[in-house]
Amino acid sequence: MRVTLLVLLLIGLQQFSNAQEHSHKLERSLKFPDVPGYKTLKCDFHQHTVFSDGSVWPDIRVMEALVDGLDAISLTEHLEYQPHKNDIPHPNRNRSYELAVKEAKNHNLIIVNGAEITRKMPPGHNNAIFISDANTLLVKDSVEVFHMAKQQGAFTFWNHPNWINQRKDGVASLTDMHRYLIQEKLLDGIEVVNQETYSDEALQIALDNNLTIMGTSDIHSLIDWEFKVDKGGHRPITLVFSAERTQEAIKEGLLQRRTVVYFKHQLIGRTEHLLPLLNQSVSIINKGYQGKSNVLNVTLTNNTSCPFLLRNISPYNFHDQVEVLTVPANGEISFQVKTLERLKEVRLDFEVLNAVIAPGKHPSISLLASSL
Ligand code: ZN
Repeated sequence: MRVTLLVLLLIGLQQFSNAQEHSHKLERSLKFPDVPGYKTLKCDFHQHTVFSDGSVWPDIRVMEALVDGLDAISLTEHLEYQPHKNDIPHPNRNRSYELAVKEAKNHNLIIVNGAEITRKMPPGHNNAIFISDANTLLVKDSVEVFHMAKQQGAFTFWNHPNWINQRKDGVASLTDMHRYLIQEKLLDGIEVVNQETYSDEALQIALDNNLTIMGTSDIHSLIDWEFKVDKGGHRPITLVFSAERTQEAIKEGLLQRRTVVYFKHQLIGRTEHLLPLLNQSVSIINKGYQGKSNVLNVTLTNNTSCPFLLRNISPYNFHDQVEVLTVPANGEISFQVKTLERLKEVRLDFEVLNAVIAPGKHPSISLLASSL
């Protein structure tokens, strides 16, 4: 009897683990709400595998993306830098993409074909994604390769313009070649965030030249190790505001500059893209005056993976908090507002300190507590 029970239990556990095996979805999935008119898609369009200078097979990148709850990824192997070529000759430069597509077949993850055009400065390293054939991008001329990518319908962006190997002071700045590429519409975006780095100067270049604001992991090892996920870290991603959850719609969103970058629990983007996202992310769920007092109880909720740091810029002071509140990720905070008299509605204004719309500039949100 006891043995039978044990066997049944073991079979049950086995079935349970089989069922789990192919979902890969975890509690830690990155979470951001859709905005009016668009889906908010979580994307990482700069990653490496053993098919260039990365340390893992492409299927691992797919599994990592599923665990993080991403919507789309691209494996952007260096076209010109092939340190593993003695072990992996790599005659077909679409191979990494093909293996990722195969792994993602039964999963809800979009794989975008991409490659990293790897040159000295200028133009440095640039990604071409939504390409149809990476092999045809093995051309010598650094401008010609952009034309070839564009002929395939690519979206292109400048990688780590602040990279200290190519910019000693870590300051991103345009070269004449970059100006030419932008002017000829051969360069669409710029990494404001790459791996562990953020560049105020790259953000300013994006704003001044109407480029898409990009943030990527540029992962070579493992996401969990690199970004210390066990200690609460996360990979940098680009949120793309997309009419649909398709490759074409994502490309359209990128070409129309509709992105926000999520990096070290901060959000970076243009006001017109950040504000709708913030407005869907934080809301008042509870409010009411305390007894007969003129002190209002308010609860704010946050439905994203990103905690929000809000600085009070309302005309009211708080009763139980200093001026900066933290609304935890997927959580809430309750606090008390001194409105001095009983009001029917109260508008609370906050500067979002961990969101950036331009170097040194934070957006503000306004929340209305009504029918009090
Ligand atoms: Zn790279």
